[in-house]
Amino acid sequence: MKDNGLEIIYSDDNPAIEKDDDKCIECGYCVKACRDEVTVAKMYDINKTKKPICIHCGQCTNLCPTEAVHERLDYLKVKSELERKDIVKTISIAPAVRVAIGEAFSLGEENYEGKIVSGLKKIGFDYVFDITFGADLTIMEEAMELVNRIKNKGILPMFTSCCPAWVQYAEIFYPEFLPNLSSCKSPITMQSTMIKTYFSEKEKIDASKILNVVVAPCTAKKKEVKRKEINRASDYFKISGINDTDYVLTTRELISLLNESNIDFNSLPSKEFSSPLGKGSSAGLLFGKTGGVMEAALRTAYYFLNGKDLEEDAIKFDEVRGIEGVREATLDLGKVTLRVAIVNGMKYAVSLLEKIKKKEVDYDFIEVMSCSYGCVGGGGEPKLTLLEMKERKKSRLESIEKEDKIAKIRLCHQNPEIKEIYEKFLETPSSKKAKQLLHTSFTDKSYLLRGEEHE
Ligand code: SF4
Ligand code: SF4
Repeated sequence: MKDNGLEIIYSDDNPAIEKDDDKCIECGYCVKACRDEVTVAKMYDINKTKKPICIHCGQCTNLCPTEAVHERLDYLKVKSELERKDIVKTISIAPAVRVAIGEAFSLGEENYEGKIVSGLKKIGFDYVFDITFGADLTIMEEAMELVNRIKNKGILPMFTSCCPAWVQYAEIFYPEFLPNLSSCKSPITMQSTMIKTYFSEKEKIDASKILNVVVAPCTAKKKEVKRKEINRASDYFKISGINDTDYVLTTRELISLLNESNIDFNSLPSKEFSSPLGKGSSAGLLFGKTGGVMEAALRTAYYFLNGKDLEEDAIKFDEVRGIEGVREATLDLGKVTLRVAIVNGMKYAVSLLEKIKKKEVDYDFIEVMSCSYGCVGGGGEPKLTLLEMKERKKSRLESIEKEDKIAKIRLCHQNPEIKEIYEKFLETPSSKKAKQLLHTSFTDKSYLLRGEEHE
């Protein structure tokens, strides 16, 4: 556990990660992950903070060889909720889950969304939704926000805010950049709010009778869904006690849930996601990999700026693809030229943020994802050995890019279910209702570095 005197301590109230001391062999891998990959452990002095600081990214769980450090497990609670007859059970699957789950069943990194849907229906979920829909919704709001900031000379660069580990990092270590963060909630939290409001009204199901579960490649989502400011269904219905998301399971927990429910994953037939909230564009699917949020946003921002879609051969932005730690490009979007940057892994964020502060670089739009390769390298994905790590993460990423290449709908704003939800419920991107349900705010938490208690 100790490495050069540094030790990772997990608070008992950490909502995402816990440690079983009995299993710890003091190999120091968790320290390496937190200090060298995520940089959190070297960003603060515990003598001053008095408490450990954690952004809940889960990279320490990925490297721990003994399961001593692991995500807080919720899948058994979900399994027992499935026995209940008095509730409607919904579950939504994030993009990166479908291209990693096959590894647990010796199937590789193909897209296994059809088998996931079928397995989850078999164990008792009434509706299985696709968070690619939530990603499309995020892009509608985020691309509009970007265009508005550019047109109205608002605060730039705008940073993406769909990675909760990055949001926490900015709140604690770089609060001066909080006005730069997009006010959009993440795909998962948008999807959950839509399930408990739009879907509940449409299907005439009492929102307090919906059990809403999310499967993510991400441990930080376990913390994110507990943020008061992102939960909106209670306010919407003016009834207290409704959580937009009831449980977040990691991809690993989904595998355990299926295995412990005696599901033979390999023999499952393929089934379609439930509708509505079950259809996504391939741009939304790109959220699962580094550069994907940027690429999806650029495709729709082009439409908002120019009133027409990109030509088919210009839809793929080669400039933002790749796996380098920081990538930058200057892109012609018709009416504007945008300077963009992509940060692939938290360890690359600090030098870029410092350069921006010193005005050594200048951008309009920046994507930051805490995990290397993006969410396909998330802290809740199937564990990989150090030897296979690069190759497997690359395969997961390529599988998503392959899906984009062959997809019929490659633009978020062309998703028919997205068109319908704006027509029937949200009105327009950035409308008063959309702002109320789909946007959020951030808090300066640098007081934690001074050992102060504010919450
Ligand atoms: S979850 Fe991330 S920030 Fe928290 S201890 Fe582990 S590596 Fe560090
Ligand atoms: S990159 Fe994705 S998986 Fe990793 S912390 Fe951010 S949202 Fe979660």
